[in-house]
Amino acid sequence: MIEIKGITKSFTIHGKSLPILNVSQWQVQQGDRLALLGPSGSGKSTLLHLLSGVMQPDQGEIWVNGLPLHTYSESKRDRYRAEHVGYIFQDFHLISSLTVKQNVELIVPQDWTKKMTKDQVDYWFERVGLKDRQHHLPSELSRGQQQRAAIIRAIIAKPQLILADEPTGSLDWETAGDIMSLLLDICEVEKMTLLTVTHDLHLADMYPARVHIQDINELPRREAV
Ligand code: ADP
Ligand code: MG
Repeated sequence: MIEIKGITKSFTIHGKSLPILNVSQWQVQQGDRLALLGPSGSGKSTLLHLLSGVMQPDQGEIWVNGLPLHTYSESKRDRYRAEHVGYIFQDFHLISSLTVKQNVELIVPQDWTKKMTKDQVDYWFERVGLKDRQHHLPSELSRGQQQRAAIIRAIIAKPQLILADEPTGSLDWETAGDIMSLLLDICEVEKMTLLTVTHDLHLADMYPARVHIQDINELPRREAV
């Protein structure tokens, strides 16, 4: 479902090109749930950005669900992201002026009827434990509750790939464990592929599998810039 072949990615920093990723071969099967580990600055977020189509590799191939992302224009990648990827951020990225229900409704597919939308919204708010919180603004919820709402937004349209970039990085440890197990459960039941960046080894241990970015990135280890 994810296949990477010979990708490189560099950034130009202070006029100098700095290589960040060099992955010759990497595959993730549909339905795998994988924790991605590695030190700060080692290219974990960059890898997620490549898989979500926010960035393009300098060279090489990225296939997701059989789609050749590396050949896509920016607008085609935007459409790919909307249809195939759910993204979960460390700091939630909820729109502060909208209720959490409105935040979720923003990404509901246009062909859903009103009834289908309501049924799905009700189902998911109950499923994540926010049954009576649909009409709250993000600021009226705890950080853990905000991340639960952000999880609904990521999964409600049933994308096949969920990318989570340190989703528990700003939560206390107990909430972090709850959020991680919620995410793992949902992706298992819905048969979604889950790739989660975390540097918490205990949370990574909850995953059926772990990968260290330096096992797939062939660049020598270096200090973060
Ligand atoms: P990680 O998520 O593992 O901490 P990142 O993928 O965010 O690492 O970043 C890897 C390296 O690439 C860092 O040194 C960072 O400064 C650099 N980098 C990331 N994105 C950009 C960008 N858009 N422009 C320039 N440098 C970047
Ligand atoms: Mg990062």
